Amino acid sequence: MTENLLNFDAEQMTAWFAEQGEKPFRAKQVLRWLHKAGESDFNAMSDLAMSLRSKLKLTACVKSPQVMREETATDGTQKWLLDVGTGNAVETVFIPETDRGTLCVSTQAGCALDCAFCSTGKQGFNRNLSVAEIIGQLWWANRELGKNQEGIWPITNVVLMGMGEPLLNFDNTVHALRLMLDDNAYGLSRRRVTVSTSGIVPAMDRLRDECPVALAVSLHAPNDALRNVLVPVNQKYPLKELMAACGRYLEKAPRDFVTFEYVMLAGINDSVQQARELIALVREVPCKFNLIPFNPFPQAPYQRSDMQTVMRFRDVLMQADIVTTIRKVRGDDIAAACGQLAGKVQDKTKRTHRLTEVAQ
Ligand code: SAH
Ligand code: SF4
Repeated sequence: MTENLLNFDAEQMTAWFAEQGEKPFRAKQVLRWLHKAGESDFNAMSDLAMSLRSKLKLTACVKSPQVMREETATDGTQKWLLDVGTGNAVETVFIPETDRGTLCVSTQAGCALDCAFCSTGKQGFNRNLSVAEIIGQLWWANRELGKNQEGIWPITNVVLMGMGEPLLNFDNTVHALRLMLDDNAYGLSRRRVTVSTSGIVPAMDRLRDECPVALAVSLHAPNDALRNVLVPVNQKYPLKELMAACGRYLEKAPRDFVTFEYVMLAGINDSVQQARELIALVREVPCKFNLIPFNPFPQAPYQRSDMQTVMRFRDVLMQADIVTTIRKVRGDDIAAACGQLAGKVQDKTKRTHRLTEVAQ
């Protein structure tokens, strides 16, 4: 069996080369070819000895997920549907802005957590993505978009906000993060790589210790009663524990604040009273808020709050000195906006089946 080298971070690559009787600097060279140059052909890796190139052709391969469909929105946002085998497909989204390019990466085929307002969650869960499938999204998108005139890749920021809960695919996510940060691979600063989590408390502690990067926490509700409904994993890790975990995370984080994401659902979580409750909740956590207008999908049980309500909510938070932004909706004409990523999931949790039964 050939080894897919996109599965290895620097340490694993070095270990694998050592097993082949090769020196550590070979691992570094290959990492640079794969991720800095975007090269997949061992023949083209010109500073490797011919004999090593021939050996690699027999023992190794470079395989990222295949693209099944590509779409470009009117605002320039691009979405790729990637085949991850056995009937599953995940989505990756590139969001160009004037001063940066952000790639929104998926970490699981589906999601087991079933948040009430999320299209990915509604489809159920199939499996964790491998390291090659996670980093392959960045590898592939960079190659597809091409370097600019100065020879710089277009992707400057990565957010793990695509399909799935990154902290429930912890090991593979961390290996992929290490590649994003590695100077021999993508060399992104820790502040430009963001993990978004629904609040898996023990895994937040592990991430802090093993690979701290910028952190976004999907809050969506100011109290446990409502959050238990919107983000069911709250029943396991309630708000008090979540707030404490955010505080601990900040001890080692590359940024001195946590970003709280808050999807604005009309009449559900968008009142002035709820904004005040939020202020009290986050009192001890240095944070910023990012208000996300709800992005509808077929059969979604909620509606987007109107802009006036969103702005009023923002103003209440701002008056309490909490920096609050309203997320621009990007790529909604190709269903590439937050929470609209559907992909194609062979649901192992039978959730879709159960939902159909309830509907009948
Ligand atoms: N599982 C992780 C990361 C993926 S979801 C998490 O939940 O944080 C990325 C972000 O999109 C989360 O903040 C999520 O709550 C938000 N989101 C999900 N569905 C949405 C929708 N329909 N409209 C707007 N945002 C949504
Ligand atoms: Fe999963 Fe995040 Fe969607 Fe919740 S919002 S179902 S955690 S992907």
